[in-house]
Amino acid sequence: MWQVVGHEWAVTLFENSLAQGRLSHAYLFTGPPRIGKTTLALNLAQALNCTGKDKPCGECLSCQKTSQGIHPDVRMVDLAYQKGLLEGREGSTALGIDAIRSIQSDAALKPFEGRWKVFIIPQAENMTPEAANCLLKTLEEPPSHVVLLLTALHTDLLFPTIVSRCQVFNLRPPSTTLIREALGRRWDLEGERAHLIAALSAGRMGWAVEAAQNQALLRERNGRLDELLSLPGARRLERLSFAQRWGSQPERVKEILTLWLGWWRDLLLAKEGCWDKMENIDRKNTLLEEAEKHELGEIKEFISSIRETLHELESNVNLRLALEVLMLDLPSKR
Ligand SMILES: [Zn+2]
Repeated sequence: MWQVVGHEWAVTLFENSLAQGRLSHAYLFTGPPRIGKTTLALNLAQALNCTGKDKPCGECLSCQKTSQGIHPDVRMVDLAYQKGLLEGREGSTALGIDAIRSIQSDAALKPFEGRWKVFIIPQAENMTPEAANCLLKTLEEPPSHVVLLLTALHTDLLFPTIVSRCQVFNLRPPSTTLIREALGRRWDLEGERAHLIAALSAGRMGWAVEAAQNQALLRERNGRLDELLSLPGARRLERLSFAQRWGSQPERVKEILTLWLGWWRDLLLAKEGCWDKMENIDRKNTLLEEAEKHELGEIKEFISSIRETLHELESNVNLRLALEVLMLDLPSKR
């Protein structure tokens, strides 16, 4: 059974390739964070070595070992793997050449148990240039029993030579309805909370599952949102101190800005009366009040400012400075 939520077209394509024995040696899944790229890769790894009837059955020994991360022929090549490989030496945030070399030497060996040796490289954009060049060699002449599964935010972030060797699947976020149904079916979450989490997830299935299991996530979102809501009424000094507080934490800032982007998009939707597409459905009244306080143009401009800052975050910008600019762009309440 496929565990992934949405992406039916990709699943169907795989099922057909698998049934006809026409597999590629490399696949690349691209799309926004947490929409299920790695889950799909893991599912595919299961399907490749599954001994059951409906692949992936999820029940045979091979499927179980894969989902537990202990299948000898399925390797997740991520930062945790690299850390183990380097035995704690130089804690890098990029996937280096040692990790990719270990794929090369391992790929040369025949599978131990399964039919295929599968290597999953999540967030392949995090490879160093040396690592990417090294991977290219394996992609150019892959051993016949090897399948490589890469994920990335976007093809632009990878060497074109790597992309051209892969079958590319550009995945889109699953719909809110699909996510809500999946939360009910598999995580036993129904009613208003499921509705809210699905709406807030904006297609990030990974986040939705986490929020369903961990109450703290929604509480944190509430706190953050309150803080963000106070900023348009705040003085210049307070706004700048916000920039100072978060200016050294790019990962947190990404989360905060994503939350904020959702909020300002909702303001736009409120202005236009489109209630059904909103994320922050538990704060409808506040949204209506806030929407009254800003001009349509103002809202649109600030949305592009947030987008721009998020974009800049990808390119080693001075984070504090970028946040300060954003804070000054923030429309004041009328
Ligand atoms: Zn199976």
